[in-house]
Amino acid sequence: MVGYIQILGAGECGLPLAYRLQRAGLPVTLIAARDATAVLNGTVTSTQVKFPATLDLEAAAGMGHWRSRAPEILGIRLTTVVDGRRVLGWTGFFTRPAQSVDQRTVFARWLTDYVEAGGDLEIAAPSLTELDRRAAEYDLTVVTRALGELADCFPDDPAWPVAKEPARRLAVFYLEGVAADPDNLGTYASLPGLGEVISYPGLTGAPGSERCCEILLIEALPGGPLDVFDPGDSPSDRLRRVVRLLGSQLPADLADRYREAELTDAGATLTGAVRPMVRRPVAMLPSGRAVLGGGDVVCRMDPAGAQGANSAAHCGDAYATAILARPAGPFDRSWMESVATPWLTGTAHPAARWTAAVLDPSAEMRQLMLAAQDDPVLADAFADSFARPADALLGSLRAVMPPADAGDDGSVHAGRR
Ligand SMILES: Cc1cc2nc3c(=O)[nH]c(=O)nc-3n(C[C@H](O)[C@H](O)[C@H](O)COP(=O)(O)OP(=O)(O)OC[C@H]3O[C@@H](n4cnc5c(N)ncnc54)[C@H](O)[C@@H]3O)c2cc1C
Repeated sequence: MVGYIQILGAGECGLPLAYRLQRAGLPVTLIAARDATAVLNGTVTSTQVKFPATLDLEAAAGMGHWRSRAPEILGIRLTTVVDGRRVLGWTGFFTRPAQSVDQRTVFARWLTDYVEAGGDLEIAAPSLTELDRRAAEYDLTVVTRALGELADCFPDDPAWPVAKEPARRLAVFYLEGVAADPDNLGTYASLPGLGEVISYPGLTGAPGSERCCEILLIEALPGGPLDVFDPGDSPSDRLRRVVRLLGSQLPADLADRYREAELTDAGATLTGAVRPMVRRPVAMLPSGRAVLGGGDVVCRMDPAGAQGANSAAHCGDAYATAILARPAGPFDRSWMESVATPWLTGTAHPAARWTAAVLDPSAEMRQLMLAAQDDPVLADAFADSFARPADALLGSLRAVMPPADAGDDGSVHAGRR
């Protein structure tokens, strides 16, 4: 006897979860808003840098199709820019490279693989009432996409502050014709009081026809000089605007890398904002049925920390492992709490704390960033803290993060190539 499982949302959390359960022979239904063709024909949705632990999970699940083809991001070239001039800079290497593959490419391929392997896929966007009715027909409902009324069923986690507004306004560009970083590093330009300009190589295109590109993310403090993107602008207007913006705000050698940039395709830009949110992982639907939340539904972060996709992937992995360990259930509320807690304390909450520290560095963190200029081990530890925010890093870095959750292991980890 095994339980019948439905998963709402086909993204970083829902797709690997559905794929693993389906491959193990469990009856699973995946509900997606769009099919693979619609995903590919849509606009970009993220910049999705993934770190080695996430890439390893995907490879282990047979889903890491881009490992040998996506460009490797070897570390971070951090530059602090004031009035267009460099005032600080260091390079920190990851212990192992990161990679970024367009979510359109990834989700389209994973959806296709899931269906071809016999997976049950429904294209739908059920209302709360419909989901509640459907939940009665399944032993377990996992929600990895929730807006409006459904999102409201997941209570805020009282241990976390509720952000009223996003910290940044975002603009994303997938570009061709950008001069590559000479050392295969990602660029992280911090413009104090204005925001950040983040850029690295990635892979885009339809599965089977992928090509390299540069992925650029502008993180603008609302109302400031980087906050210039009107959602009503055409993609080509946005491109003109961003090239001009980089020319006016960055040192010339950095801005020049983007001078000849072209958009990779008609859907290659995105503007918006992410309001961070930490919720409890179990929601009670109006009928009184419990459903389990995962990924951004439970812990949503600004992209500056490059954590959300990594955290969502670990969530999908943790839930798949727990379900496969007890496929007959019962998947009751206490079971849901017990499977979500290790992911929250071990991955999601440290990622949210790291993102908060990156967006609003304390005086101590700024001192450490200054010291990293002359200390390659510290620079590497900074870079690796994006990949492993739950680890201790150097003791001094841990001390500048907001209060720790139980579950962090206190180990030290740093390395330079
Ligand atoms: C600009 C930007 C840059 C980012 N950069 C990074 C980064 O570098 N590194 C990183 O780790 N994270 C990054 N993130 C965050 C990351 O993209 C998300 O945290 C991650 O995709 C969340 O995964 P998920 O499974 O929770 O949701 P998603 O991956 O968003 O998946 C949800 C899925 O549900 C589908 N859906 C939508 N509505 C419905 C509906 N009504 N019914 C059914 N299905 C529906 C959607 O099509 C989507 O496929 C970034 C986010 C943004 C916005």
